[in-house]
Amino acid sequence: MEILRTLPGLRDALGSEAEIGLVPTMGALHEGHLSLMQRSARENAVTVVTLFVNPTQFGPGEDFAKYPRTFEEDARLAATAGAGILFAPEPAEVYPPGDLTRVRVEQLSDRLCGKFRPGHFEGVATVVTKLFLMVGPRRAYFGEKDFQQLQVIRRLTEDLHFAIEIVACPTVREADGLALSSRNRYLDRDERMAAGAIPRALEAARTLAESGERAATSIVSAAATILGNEPLLRLQYLELVDPATLLPVETVEEEAVLALALYCGATRLIDNVRILPGLPAA
Ligand code: AMP
Repeated sequence: MEILRTLPGLRDALGSEAEIGLVPTMGALHEGHLSLMQRSARENAVTVVTLFVNPTQFGPGEDFAKYPRTFEEDARLAATAGAGILFAPEPAEVYPPGDLTRVRVEQLSDRLCGKFRPGHFEGVATVVTKLFLMVGPRRAYFGEKDFQQLQVIRRLTEDLHFAIEIVACPTVREADGLALSSRNRYLDRDERMAAGAIPRALEAARTLAESGERAATSIVSAAATILGNEPLLRLQYLELVDPATLLPVETVEEEAVLALALYCGATRLIDNVRILPGLPAA
């Protein structure tokens, strides 16, 4: 695996390679990231993993400065997961001096997490657009764990006419169902235990819907009750939404997504589950 830090270096290494798979990450790699890399390595001639803690997607008071940075270990893991190139640019390589350009996906960026993290998805859309233009991939791999991010990226890919296939990859979870996240390492033992209620809550909602319940209020409150039993969890939002618009649904007629963000101690965690309508109870 080659490690590159500049755009000219990256372009030299890629040459006219046509089948590039791109896996954007912010590092502190775990099995979730590795599953994206492994899939890309299977489906493309070369996989470019980017490791960039993107300053524009963090708000004031968020964890940009203390975001975990574990470069040596990340490089080792990316190589074993099949990365051909690890691109780890400095911020000035991505945001040239004097940069003024931003990419904003309307509406989708303002819902769910967007209500609590103004500017976050503009930062995401901007950096992903830049990475698409820098790397020129045929396919790009994103986790369903960050469902809103995935929808924002799908929208911008279509709107900006990128000829890139967006590949959505399933959420990789711990044995108790907690979604792997770089931020899980902030949790102490009690918080880690409490966080186990997140997958249990989502699963209870999913099971209720599959048993025939269609009313969003009932489905959401099944999850809310379980989360409410954990004093260390502080819910930010819990919404049952249409996957395309991210707007709340009142009844589950077609596939919906139950998405949440909460604080576990001082750590903000997100997760979601796909909700499919079951047959109404007889
Ligand atoms: P991040 O480094 O947090 O920006 O994540 C980089 C990519 O890995 C994003 O596409 C995430 O959605 C994806 N990802 C993060 N956690 C998981 C997980 N537990 N399972 C699958 N994909 C994940």
